[in-house]
Parts: sequence; C-alpha cells; structure tokens
Amino acid sequence: MLGKMGLKPYTIYEIKYLTHGEPDSPRIASFSMRPKDGEKFNFVPGMFSSLFLDPSDKLFRSYSIASSPNEDHMEFMIELINGRFTSQLANLKEGDEIYISEPRGAFLYEPDDARSDLFLAAGIGIAPFFSMLRYLKSKDMKRDVYLFYSIKHKDDIVNLPELEGYKELGLNIVFTITRDPESALWHGERGRINTRMIENHASDYLSRTVYLCGGIKFVKDIVAELKEKGVIDEEIKRDIWGE
Ligand SMILES: Cc1cc2nc3c(=O)[nH]c(=O)nc-3n(C[C@H](O)[C@H](O)[C@H](O)COP(=O)(O)OP(=O)(O)OC[C@H]3O[C@@H](n4cnc5c(N)ncnc54)[C@H](O)[C@@H]3O)c2cc1C
Repeated sequence: MLGKMGLKPYTIYEIKYLTHGEPDSPRIASFSMRPKDGEKFNFVPGMFSSLFLDPSDKLFRSYSIASSPNEDHMEFMIELINGRFTSQLANLKEGDEIYISEPRGAFLYEPDDARSDLFLAAGIGIAPFFSMLRYLKSKDMKRDVYLFYSIKHKDDIVNLPELEGYKELGLNIVFTITRDPESALWHGERGRINTRMIENHASDYLSRTVYLCGGIKFVKDIVAELKEKGVIDEEIKRDIWGE
C-alpha cells in the first residue's frame, strides 16, 4: 500500500505555532516543508496528503494541504491533540525529514465556477481554505466568497491578519465563537454555524457552491440543514475528517 501512495521525502524548514491553545482547544502548529529532490507534488486546492514519519512503519495520518499549489513548499496546519501521531509531530524540529504521499481527494476547489463560493469551516477545518485563498491571491483572482469560520475561542483564529488581507480579493468573513458566552470583547457571531446565521449575512447562499470542512458532526448537521433549505447534493462539496 505504501508504494501505491507515492511517498516522497520532504525536509521541514519551518515550524510555527499558530495558536497558543486554550485549555479546551489544543494548540495548532504549521509545518512547512520542501521536497528533498526539488520536485514538488502537483495538487488542486482542497486535496490532502498522508504524512509518515517512517515510511517502513504503517503509522500515518492524513492532512489537508494549506499551501497553494504554485508555492515551492507544502504547508500543513495541525491541531496537536496529543494522539498517537500528533504526539510524535509535536517533537519534530526544523531540519527533520518527513514522508508525504501523493496528494489526493475529492474535495476540489473550482476557482472558475460561475457560481460564487460559500466556505464553511469548523476549527482546524480552515486548513484547506488557506490553500484555496492563497491560490486565488497568487493568481490575483477576484471572487465573491463568503467564509464562515467557527472557533471555540477568539484566540483560536488561525492567521487572522492573512485572512483579513483576502478581503481585497472579495472575501467576506464571518467568525463565530462556540464558547466564551460571557465575553463582552467579542463582536462576531456566537454558536455553531447554521443556515439562519448564513442567511443573515449571505442572503444569496442558495445560489452559491458550498465547500465545507470539519468534524463529522458539524458536516452532517449543516448538510442536513442545507438540504432542508433546498441545496442539492451536487452543490455541497465536503471534507469529513472524523470517524
Ligand atoms: C482527509 C483528512 C484531512 C485531515 N486534515 C487535517 C488537518 O488539516 N489538520 C488536522 O489537525 N487534522 C486533520 N485531519 C485529522 C488527522 O488525520 C488525525 O486524525 C489527527 O491529527 C489525530 O491523529 P492522532 O494520531 O494524533 O490521534 P489518534 O491517536 O488517532 O486519536 C484520535 C482520537 O482523538 C479524538 N480527538 C479528535 N480531536 C480531538 C481534540 N481536539 N482533542 C482531543 N481529542 C480529539 C478523536 O475522537 C479520536 O478518538 C484530517 C483527516 C482526514 C481524514
């Protein structure tokens, strides 16, 4: 199976912590890496790769690619939940080697779609949307995009200044926090993303192509709501991570 996955060694050249980690939301780290042989993988924004620390070991986990296909490196944004694989990732250092599988997946961004985009991200489900937005930016493509991004706490937002910079491309962002009910310092939305919240900001949401990424409960719930509102299955692209 490993041979079929087309593994390539990459060298990690930068590890950054994107969030500090609240007591109930683990820290998110970014790992940027370049191919050892100089030949990078091709991919479409939205795809994922599997990471291996040791190619002779069967242990791997899959991660959405957060970088744009036309960059010279690959970046992954990973929530360090102290599980079997992430506890090992947490010990990596710049200069270490990691093996990456050939990118794959059916969650494929279509930047030339005549329909506008509706991006729905829960937590670290934001990762593939960075690839999409970075791609648009690299091509200087203006798009009418609505991004709804739910986080537990306001400090869990990944790369806020970068996201805000995409407003000039046509990005509208709605942040919603699902914890901190008492925080008076928060002026965004509160609670999980739902169709009422979407409609309040993007009243034309039924005419947009939906891209959604997050845990299984989030994806199932929002897909059911969207379908109830008349969105057809083909217009909902989803990436589900959980079991
Ligand atoms: C296509 C795809 C793309 C993915 N992309 C990303 C990505 O871009 N970034 C990313 O971080 N992950 C992503 N994942 C999830 C990733 O593959 C791993 O499942 C994750 O990193 C946990 O691996 P682990 O070995 O550390 O945990 P494991 O030892 O496998 O344990 C996972 C267990 O932890 C539980 N758990 C899940 N989240 C938490 C949490 N926040 N705190 C405590 N427990 C938790 C799960 O329910 C499960 O029981 C993706 C998964 C898929 C299938």
